[in-house]
Amino acid sequence: MNELLRTLPRVDDVLDTITEKIPRTVLLDCIRKVLDNCRNEIIKGEHKSAPFFSEQKIAEKALALAKSRLTPKLRPVINATGVVLHTNLGRAPLSEYVAEHVKQVAMGYSTLEYDLETSKRGSRTEGIENLLKNLTNAEAVCIVNNNAAAVLLTLSALCEGGEVVVSRGELVEIGGSFRVPEVISQGGAILKEVGSTNKTHLSDYGQAICEETSALLKVHTSNYKIMGFTEDVSMKELANLAKEKNLRSIYDLGSGSFISFAGEPMVQQAVADGADVICFSGDKLLGGPQCGIILGKKEYASKIRKHPLYRALRADKLSLAALEASLSLYLDMETAKAQIPTLTMLLASDEELKEKATRLLGLLNKRLNAKLQKVSGQAGGGSLPLQTFESWAVAITQGEDLTVEELEKHLRGWKIPIIARIHRDALLLDVRTIEAHHFYEIAECFSICN
Ligand SMILES: *Cc1c(COP(=O)(O)O)cnc(C)c1O
Repeated sequence: MNELLRTLPRVDDVLDTITEKIPRTVLLDCIRKVLDNCRNEIIKGEHKSAPFFSEQKIAEKALALAKSRLTPKLRPVINATGVVLHTNLGRAPLSEYVAEHVKQVAMGYSTLEYDLETSKRGSRTEGIENLLKNLTNAEAVCIVNNNAAAVLLTLSALCEGGEVVVSRGELVEIGGSFRVPEVISQGGAILKEVGSTNKTHLSDYGQAICEETSALLKVHTSNYKIMGFTEDVSMKELANLAKEKNLRSIYDLGSGSFISFAGEPMVQQAVADGADVICFSGDKLLGGPQCGIILGKKEYASKIRKHPLYRALRADKLSLAALEASLSLYLDMETAKAQIPTLTMLLASDEELKEKATRLLGLLNKRLNAKLQKVSGQAGGGSLPLQTFESWAVAITQGEDLTVEELEKHLRGWKIPIIARIHRDALLLDVRTIEAHHFYEIAECFSICN
């Protein structure tokens, strides 16, 4: 064993063989780590025979380790799944215009809390507030980290100690640990369930209202639908009842769309229907950055801003920059549809997608067994659960000597990882979510795998 241990090269000798430009401290640490591992393997008796620890071998391993340490684990991928709001892949991508604005704000100082006219302290969200008032007629706005935070903050600031009335058909669980009953109790309020899973009437809310009631809450059942023999109460009816009884009406809209998708409530409509406070996500159907948007009557917004949780949950300057730039695109709906990637991808026509898939197929290695295939997918992110999105994919059933599983792995390991799904023994590249400028990257990845 000692003989084997003596064959391990010296750290400096390994270092001398490496010419790549990698910080010396990182390299040294990685070389030591690799040598330690070899030493441990020898001690455990995993190497019985002659030495194979050349400087080059150790250097190779150390270099790979150093490179992986220096590569961010959070990095861009190509989404070939066709799922537009893919939660695991970061939900909504930003447009070039929005990303450029974020970059400018990120790289220097900004007017985050500075008023250029008075040279005094300004509001963090004035621009966003103006845009949202313009787009929705809301009175006031608060921006926090995500919609879960928006709902929690609203309940904490407005309902603590009181009862919150919710339909049994709307006790939603979103991915992670966001469950309506738990958020209500975390907000210090008491859940009062009314109605049944499939049917809740206005009179159910009416009968539940008592001295302790503080708000009527409506939750959009984003990620599921109750079908068949069903009835629920509209936001308008609920808002009217709340007014009549001197209570607040709160609407957790979830996706928060500004354009019409079948069955999806729109933000403008929720405001027009008279909801006192409306919460929704910035990075679902809106197609902006991760954040939670609270629209509300002035008195409620000011109460929310004064709550200590607001300071803890408010959005950072990069999200604010991205949100303001995204909202400005919505001033003209045609511009929004053309420039917000989420909208462009969701609204792409069958013809456009087929043409796109044909182009991708034309660029791929001719020796692959690939063809066009019609596929159907989902919006993702818990949005539009019943709507299937017909799309076109390049389907690959055989890659030279590689199986479909090996191909999928090869794609995932590419310098820009390509995330695709396997369905019925075919690797599917759904073009709905692939940006055209990535086609060459994909073609290169396939050309190298044979
Ligand atoms: C998605 C969603 C949430 C949580 O929003 P995040 O932005 O993911 O925090 C809350 N409520 C509803 C109804 C949702 O659909």
